[in-house]
Amino acid sequence: MSFSYDVIVVGLGGMGSAAVHHLSSRGVRVLGLEKFGPVHDRGSSHGGSRVTRQSYFEDPAYVPLLLRAYELYEDLERATGRDIATLCGGVMVGRPDSQTVAGALRSATQWDLPHEMLDAAELRRRFPTLSPRDDEVALYEAKAGLVRPENMVAAHLQLADRQGADLRFEEPMTRWEPYRDGVRVHTARHTYTAGQLVICPGAWAPRLLTDLGVPFTIERQVMYWFQPRGGVGPFLPENHPIYVWQDAAGVQVYGFPAIDGPELGAKVAFFRKGQVCTPETIDRTVHEEEVRAMADHMSRCIPDLPGTFLKAATCMYSNTPDEHFVIARHPAHPGSVTVACGFSGHGFKFVPVVGEILADLALTGTTAHPIGLFDPRRLTAAPA
Ligand SMILES: Cc1cc2nc3c(=O)[nH]c(=O)nc-3n(C[C@H](O)[C@H](O)[C@H](O)COP(=O)(O)OP(=O)(O)OC[C@H]3O[C@@H](n4cnc5c(N)ncnc54)[C@H](O)[C@@H]3O)c2cc1C
Repeated sequence: MSFSYDVIVVGLGGMGSAAVHHLSSRGVRVLGLEKFGPVHDRGSSHGGSRVTRQSYFEDPAYVPLLLRAYELYEDLERATGRDIATLCGGVMVGRPDSQTVAGALRSATQWDLPHEMLDAAELRRRFPTLSPRDDEVALYEAKAGLVRPENMVAAHLQLADRQGADLRFEEPMTRWEPYRDGVRVHTARHTYTAGQLVICPGAWAPRLLTDLGVPFTIERQVMYWFQPRGGVGPFLPENHPIYVWQDAAGVQVYGFPAIDGPELGAKVAFFRKGQVCTPETIDRTVHEEEVRAMADHMSRCIPDLPGTFLKAATCMYSNTPDEHFVIARHPAHPGSVTVACGFSGHGFKFVPVVGEILADLALTGTTAHPIGLFDPRRLTAAPA
């Protein structure tokens, strides 16, 4: 008995859209199921910009994946003509022993990545909008910059469609079960069968992946856009880097140059300072005191940025306890199910390479990419 598809991908946000592209480019029969429409703002992959960088302060193990992701940004730009990546340079700012600076330097050194170390005076001279304290330094990386989440998701969906993938929107998976040596997937409209299932659920992981045993925390995050005092000139991408800035209390903020012209200002956000939520309970209203807190914080490091508040939007992180990803064959269903989840607020820059890894795992059970750090078994309770 044959299956109706080789592979079904559930969730066509960041990771799932890349998976349907890479799978369909390898000539297999792919079905993609998405709860909402194409390129929506209800999950984790919206808001116009995402930081990308190679001197990765989280762990040097991510670096080879980043080098591959950068190649794939270029492939996507060539294949679709869409604006995917802007490498305007970036600074990791903080005390020399902060995770942001020391971790970035560790990756840069271990992988021999081009970078410069700037003391506070040099940082002020190079980027006059930035106002570091005297005890702060920066790692500057010319290859850091930003990627465009909506464009990247749209590009992957466009290529998958062109390559014959069957993409169905507003059609959530309601449940699935093992079927022969594959799976059977149910939606309100149909039942589908396939040899392989790939689940990319974003913030819906706690509901869709209960048997994975990973304790996810879904977190509400806010993105803020300000019109800088004195206009966007010094904040244009030809003058201004992306930044991740850790203060003495350990709080990290990150932000972008003014990439959308004079009217739309520049975006900034706290890296980790959200409220626990679910996709159903998230408060989508951004409150005045939150805007004030961000403006106060930025007035200390980039005083001209919080000129006029323009707008804000919410988004969700799906955190694992150690903030590393989960990408693997599902330990309870290793023959037929692959999962990609728990991207912990730093997954978007990896989207294209995760798509490639998911296609490898679904089609061969293994991948040449180094994904040992992302094994979910590191997070599940050890047997008593
Ligand atoms: C404010 C904010 C800022 C960020 N900044 C950065 C950054 O600067 N750099 C960076 O690298 N990363 C960043 N991230 C993290 C990054 O955006 C995420 O890691 C990434 O978008 C996660 O992609 P995903 O595919 O897992 O989730 P999503 O893109 O949300 O996709 C999951 C999809 O599954 C669908 N779905 C759920 N349930 C079902 C179902 N039952 N059936 C079918 N479909 C279903 C959802 O509708 C959704 O489309 C940021 C995230 C946020 C929120």
